[in-house]
Amino acid sequence: MAVRQRLLLENAQQLVLVCGRGEECLRREAASSAAVLRGASLVVGLDGCIKAVGQADAIRSQFSGATFERVIDCSGKCVLPGLVDAHTHPVWAGDRVHEFAMKSKRKGRRHGKGRSNPSDCFSERGKTATEAADDIINNHLPKLKELKLSGEIDVDNIDVFCEKGVFDLETTRRILQAGKDTGLQMNFHGDELHPMKAAELGAELGARAISHLEEVSEEGIRAMARANCAAVLLPTTAYMLRLKQPQARKMLEEGVIVALGSDFNPNAYCFSMPMVMHLACVNMKMSMNEALAAATINAAYALGKSDTHGSIETGKQGDLVIITSPRWEHLIYQFGGHEALIDYVIVKGKVVYQNERCGTISSY
Ligand SMILES: [Zn+2]
Repeated sequence: MAVRQRLLLENAQQLVLVCGRGEECLRREAASSAAVLRGASLVVGLDGCIKAVGQADAIRSQFSGATFERVIDCSGKCVLPGLVDAHTHPVWAGDRVHEFAMKSKRKGRRHGKGRSNPSDCFSERGKTATEAADDIINNHLPKLKELKLSGEIDVDNIDVFCEKGVFDLETTRRILQAGKDTGLQMNFHGDELHPMKAAELGAELGARAISHLEEVSEEGIRAMARANCAAVLLPTTAYMLRLKQPQARKMLEEGVIVALGSDFNPNAYCFSMPMVMHLACVNMKMSMNEALAAATINAAYALGKSDTHGSIETGKQGDLVIITSPRWEHLIYQFGGHEALIDYVIVKGKVVYQNERCGTISSY
């Protein structure tokens, strides 16, 4: 009886693996070249995982007896791994659209003193940062542990906004340490508006990732590189809030694992990872390959999921993007207008988005 598979992507002009040897992240020279196959095919099994990747002829003969739920001809197109957003805030109530016009009038960079006092969020609830930290450590985390053990919720990370007027360095340390003791991965906001030595703290405690880092110190960068702590850079935030750009090149040269995130939130409304990648190249001077690694395998690393996501490798989840272009770089090059470029989005081998307009519009 013929073996049934979920999906066959056939004969892609470029099949961008990103990496192919089970690397958990890419840094230094490894991040500046992507593994790409030409004239290649890919099979996703009924379990949603990638079964095989290789030259079209080899895949055709290997699966000659198989049947597929779906076959997509990828001639002239590129297949990439599903993009991974390493930092996002997808849930909120209302919006902050009225602030956009107000902020647009403001001259210069929005930086430091120009920002409303973040400690307002504590005073509204009648709590100081220390009281809030005590509440987290003594009440929230024990409850979280209980719910995790009973299987009612699934939480991987603990996050703290380490910033002047929010949680200072010592309070951040207390919360992160308590989260670590609860078995959570440390993945937090640091060194955004003021130099806080958040990078040094994260590296010391063994944090998985730190986001923002516009104000990171040189020592902080070196400490993160040594500690395999990923730097999650957020180009849309730096752009929309007119912050100074984080030192991406310095981080890459020092061997930090650099990842990218959208920071999608009511104050920075953009969840397009191709736009994030584009801004990383233009404003942070990352190469296209570095931006690709940062939005795939390194973003997956920052979330502790690079064993299942972030590259096209056998055994990983079949999350894929197909673009109607013979070179993958178009994903970054074409700023906006993705309705003419992204043809399919696939999750676990199932098409979750199919663009009817592709094929009728060749290119902008
Ligand atoms: Zn954030």
